[in-house]
Amino acid sequence: MSQASAQTTAIAKSPSFQTQMLIDGQWVDARSGATIAVLNPADGSQLTTVPAATAVDVDAAVSAARRAFDDGRWSGLPTRERARILNRLADLIDANAEELGWIETLDNGMPLAQAVGGHVPGAAATFRYYASWCDKLDGKTTNLSGNGAEYHAFTLLEPVGVVAIITPWNAPIITAAKLAPALAAGCTCVLKPAEDTPLTALRLGELLIEAGVPDGVVNIVTGYGADAGAALASHHQVDKIAFTGSTATGRSIINSAAGNFKKVSLELGGKSPVVVMDDADLDRAIPGAANAVFANAGQICSAGTRLYVQRKVFDRVVAGIAEIAGNIRLGNGMDAATEMGPVVSQRQLERVTGMIDAGVAEGAEVVVGGGRHGDTGYFVKPTVFVNTRPEMKIVREEIFGPVLVAAPFDDPSEIPLLANDSDYGLAAAIFTTNLSTGHRFAQQVRAGTVWMNTYHFVDVSMPWGGYKQSGWGRENGFDGLAPYLQTKSVVVAI
Ligand code: NAD
Repeated sequence: MSQASAQTTAIAKSPSFQTQMLIDGQWVDARSGATIAVLNPADGSQLTTVPAATAVDVDAAVSAARRAFDDGRWSGLPTRERARILNRLADLIDANAEELGWIETLDNGMPLAQAVGGHVPGAAATFRYYASWCDKLDGKTTNLSGNGAEYHAFTLLEPVGVVAIITPWNAPIITAAKLAPALAAGCTCVLKPAEDTPLTALRLGELLIEAGVPDGVVNIVTGYGADAGAALASHHQVDKIAFTGSTATGRSIINSAAGNFKKVSLELGGKSPVVVMDDADLDRAIPGAANAVFANAGQICSAGTRLYVQRKVFDRVVAGIAEIAGNIRLGNGMDAATEMGPVVSQRQLERVTGMIDAGVAEGAEVVVGGGRHGDTGYFVKPTVFVNTRPEMKIVREEIFGPVLVAAPFDDPSEIPLLANDSDYGLAAAIFTTNLSTGHRFAQQVRAGTVWMNTYHFVDVSMPWGGYKQSGWGRENGFDGLAPYLQTKSVVVAI
C-alpha cells in the first residue's frame, strides 16, 4: 500500500469524522434516517455517510436558531465575551489545522499542503478578524436637520436575526467561515454545507461547541440542495440568506427568499479575464496566468479562465502555460508530491469533460490536456484551448475545472470590450509593466476584484464580491459584516 493510501485509510477510520448534524447543541440524524454517502474524489471510495436532512430537520434547526436569537443568549452577551469565544474558535481551528486539512483533502480532493497551509488558516484568520469587530459596532449620534434642539437622535446597529448560510464544495471550510461575520454581528445561524463536502463543517461544529458558542446559536444541517437547501431558503423564520454557489442556484434562492423578504447576499460564479500585455514581465505573467486557472483544479469562483494576450507575445505565453500545464503532477491530495487533485465528483468530472468536448465540437483547438486523466478518481488534465470564438460555450460559461481559453488581441483599446464580454464580473487581472495601462484596466473592467501582476490574492480585510451575475453584496472587511446588521433610528424628545 502506498503512503498516500495508507494515510487515507488511517484517517478514514478515524473517529474524528463527525457524521451527525448539529441541532440545538445536539448531534442528531435526519428524522427520516436517510443518509448521503460522502466519497473521496481521489478514488471514488466511500469515506462515511452524513444525514440527508429534509424540511422537518431544517425546521428544527431554524427553530433552535430562532429561540437562540430571540432570548438573546448570543446577541445579549457582552461584546467582549463574544469576541473572546470567536478568538478561541480561531485558536482551536489553528490547533487542529492538520486534522481539518486531512478531512478537507479526503472530502474535497485538494492537495493537503493547500488545505493545511491555506484554507484552514484562512478560516481561522476570518474568525479572528471578525472577532475584533465585535466591540466596534457602534451607531452614531445624529445632528438632526430640523428641531435639533428639541430632540436627541441616534442610531443602533443590531443583528439581522437568523441567518441561513448555504455553501459550495470547492472551498468548504473557507466558505463555512461565513459564520464569522454573522456571529460577530450577533446573529444566530443554520449552516448547510454542500452535500459533496460536509465533513469539515461538521468538525467545525465540534470546535464551535468547544469554544463556548451556546447551544442553538450555530446549527449545521447536511442535505441535498433541492431538499434541505430549498427548505432553508424558503423558511419564514429565517431573516437572511448568505449563499455561495452557482449563479443558477443563486437565482432560485432569490425566488425562495421572496416569501418573507429575506435579506440576501450572493457570492456566485465567474469567468474572469486575465490580460497579458506585450510589455509584461513574462517570467511572472506565464506562471501567474497558469496559477490563475489551474489552482484548486480550476474550482475557484474567481479562476482566471479567459486569457487575452497581446499578439506579439501570444505564442510565447500560450506555449509557456501549456508547458506548465503538461508538467503539473496530478494525484491523490494526500500525496506530498501532488500539485493538482481531482475535481470533486463524478458529476463534476462529466460536466468538465463535457465542456471540453463541446469546445472541440465547436472548432476550438486543444493545445494541451483535453480530457480525463487516468481511470480512477475524478481527475481532469489541465487544458488550454486556442482558436476560440467569443460565442463558444467554453468562452461564455463557467466550467469550474482546469480549462483555459486563450485569444490574442492587437490594440490596448480592445481590452475593455474583451474583458467585459461576459455575464459575470467577479475578478480580473492584468500583467503589465506599464502603470498607466494597469490603472486604466482597473477603472475600465467591471469586476469586484482587480489584480495587477498577481492573481488569487485575497485578504479578509479586502471586500470580495461580484459585479453583474457574479453576485450581490460583499464579503470580507466591514463590507462583509454590514449585511448581518440593520440600523435602528432612535429619537428622544428632550
Ligand atoms: P451549487 O449552487 O450547486 O451549490 C451550492 C450550495 O447550494 C450547496 O450547498 C447546494 O446543496 C445548495 N443548493 C443547491 N440547490 C439549492 C436550492 N434550490 N436551494 C437552496 N440551496 C441549494 O454550487 P456548487 O456547484 O456547490 O459550487 C460551485 C459554484 O460556487 C461555482 O459556480 C462557483 O463559482 C461558486 N462559488 C462562488 C464563490 C464566490 O465567492 N463568488 C466562492 C466559491 C464558489
